[in-house]
Amino acid sequence: PEREIDARRSEEDGNEGTLRPQTLDDFTGQKASRENLAIFIAAARQRGDALDHVLLHGPPGLGKTTLAQIVARELGVGFRATSGPVIQRAGDLAAILTNLQPRDVLFIDEIHRLHPAIEEVLYPAMEDFQLDLIIGEGPAARSVRIDLSPFTLVAATTRAGLLATPLRDRFGIPLRLVFYTPEELCQIVTRGARKLEFDLTPEGAEEIARRSRGTPRIAGRLLRRVRDFAAVARAGRGPVDRVLADAALSRLEVDSMGLDSMDRRYLRRIAEFHHGGPVGVETLAAALAEARDTLEDVIEPYLIQEGLVLRTSRGRMLGERGWRHLGLQPPARTPG
Ligand code: ADP
Repeated sequence: PEREIDARRSEEDGNEGTLRPQTLDDFTGQKASRENLAIFIAAARQRGDALDHVLLHGPPGLGKTTLAQIVARELGVGFRATSGPVIQRAGDLAAILTNLQPRDVLFIDEIHRLHPAIEEVLYPAMEDFQLDLIIGEGPAARSVRIDLSPFTLVAATTRAGLLATPLRDRFGIPLRLVFYTPEELCQIVTRGARKLEFDLTPEGAEEIARRSRGTPRIAGRLLRRVRDFAAVARAGRGPVDRVLADAALSRLEVDSMGLDSMDRRYLRRIAEFHHGGPVGVETLAAALAEARDTLEDVIEPYLIQEGLVLRTSRGRMLGERGWRHLGLQPPARTPG
């Protein structure tokens, strides 16, 4: 990707599969979600029923797709994946739904981008495992009802707030994924290095983890970049330590906190053009030539969690940590 740490999936992540955990026990972090899922999965298996529908929400790269696959595997059922923007017509969704086997998992990524007319088809399917289809046109049109196999919808979205309330209410198991701690990321990086058969010291792993922006997808990508850099820089001599990891990551313009040039542009814009804010998100999006959704779903969540940026009713403000990260003195009465 252009930005090494853009957490959204990109071409290069096609080989992500190697690092994907396969079971709930293997899945690091997200303790609350994991524990909830384990209980609901065990109960569904005991009853022999389909698991209740699951809504996973949280920033990109935190493991939503991975968890959906794990749910299917732990239930011992089939897995079918699609995404909101891919489903163009009601018939597309009907075709998928009528092909599901009993208790299968259907994963719909980016469910907030599903067309409202298609959402309507989903409601009776989720609630009663029925499809109401209109056949024919004009006066000859009639509605037919088709029974579906009971199934589990696992849906993912970057923001639950983007979903229509009636849709959101139909998920019995809503789970919010959170950014990973440096310790959890360190475990993920260490395991990843082992899977890639790449010799990394604990300090080297820590350095990569600390600069992964709380996101396993970024950790995996940085791990691969560090490996490539090390292969050239030291041609396989000795393990990769903190110094080498730092050198590789600095070349990628990933700074000490894991922020990249886009994050820094965002922070600098608020500091230099708006004296720390508040400034509306639309104004920032226009100035940075980014979609508002990208700012809200990809860039801001981490900056806000880390206290670099504050979301106020009047707009975004730079927090004290934001000023300091830019190497600037915060003005008096800076919040945060
Ligand atoms: P999302 O669907 O939320 O965008 P993915 O499930 O595709 O994220 O995960 C992105 C990458 O991060 C994958 O390569 C996956 O293997 C890795 N990953 C996600 N969560 C974990 C985890 N808890 N432990 C190890 N690797 C993880």
